[in-house]
Amino acid sequence: MGRTLYYPDVITDVRIDIGRLQRRLAELAAIGEIEGTEGSSRLALTDEDRDGRDLVVAWMRELGLTVTVDGIGNAIGVMPGEGAPVMCGSHIDTVRTGGRYDGNLGVLAGLEIIETVQTAGIVLDRPLAVAFFTNEEGARFAPDMLGSLVYVGGMPLEESLAITGIDGATVGAELERIGYAGAAPIPGPTPHAFVELHIEQGPVLEVEGITIGAVNGVQGISWTEVEVTGQSNHAGTTPMSMRKDPGYVAAACAAFVRDLCDELGGNQVGTVGRIELKPNLVNVVAATATFTVDLRNTDEALLQQAEQRFNDFLQATATAEQCTVTTRSLARFEPVQFDPEVVSLVARTAGELGYSVKELPSGAGHDAQMLARVCPTAMVFTQSQNGLSHNPAEYTASEDLEAGANVLLHTMLQLASGSG
Ligand SMILES: [Zn+2]
Repeated sequence: MGRTLYYPDVITDVRIDIGRLQRRLAELAAIGEIEGTEGSSRLALTDEDRDGRDLVVAWMRELGLTVTVDGIGNAIGVMPGEGAPVMCGSHIDTVRTGGRYDGNLGVLAGLEIIETVQTAGIVLDRPLAVAFFTNEEGARFAPDMLGSLVYVGGMPLEESLAITGIDGATVGAELERIGYAGAAPIPGPTPHAFVELHIEQGPVLEVEGITIGAVNGVQGISWTEVEVTGQSNHAGTTPMSMRKDPGYVAAACAAFVRDLCDELGGNQVGTVGRIELKPNLVNVVAATATFTVDLRNTDEALLQQAEQRFNDFLQATATAEQCTVTTRSLARFEPVQFDPEVVSLVARTAGELGYSVKELPSGAGHDAQMLARVCPTAMVFTQSQNGLSHNPAEYTASEDLEAGANVLLHTMLQLASGSG
């Protein structure tokens, strides 16, 4: 990163207001609310996403922040002040069956921190900022983390605007439609540092009884869409030896992904999360099977090995079944190491606030991994009950939300103090 951060080693007694943070979480969750649950459905750039954006931008303005929206729809609220801001943030889009904490926590905790700093009259050497990034989830448009990727210059704006979603709409047209094709330049201005508070979305902190995760990196992610084409035919009259069955190839691949992860061990995980057969009928050998493969590892070499082994199996199985195969990469990100200095600042801050803390890698992708390309970055994790996320039943206890937001507060205060 080539920059030295400076911060005074002081923790004051200022704390966030958990009631205020919970009220904002509830108000945002009510937009796209999934009836009878605590969860929300705000797919990126839909009407629901627009309404959520409008609410958060209104809150930014109420706090006196200068709000900018860039060409990919990322919105950033910055406090008045000199120099590059210390930024926090996350995303407010959700999967179709989302919870109320994933992403939203990191954004709304940022608002809460800024309100806390203003109320306490704290004077900082550089401003604080809070951002929400477009299409983090990737549930409507691939790749995921699109807004933060474009923000740091990882994809040209024109290319990102041309991306077509699962419903045939393009990013560019949808941004225009909902009024979030902004004028702020891409790539965006480089923050002094970036810290993202997020729920863990996994079971580790809860199982180990630890309150705060100081996240030291993010797994590499490889998403591939596979289309297998065979011969649609009668399920009763076609002899087994004469079949060209894409459904069989897809199912064999799904089972292979599990075996591969078991065999590789370590941090390797893999999922076949979507399989679509056409024509998808009980008595017909399918004509095509389209499925996705999600492979992740904290080690790039091992991830490449998993990709290679999967591809070898896919080709061999399809050839034996006399099917043809096309593959398309939906997303590919190398593992990311966060800035050791910011990671240890998060860990030390949590300890000084009296919370138990451990360093751990993230199993999910996050906007912070994109920001890590341009500035010193780390993340703060709080517990997810039963490790549940991407589910309306996603839950984090109020005291854990409070702990996470206070760690984020004091991490940002230290990063924004001094001449660094
Ligand atoms: Zn998230």
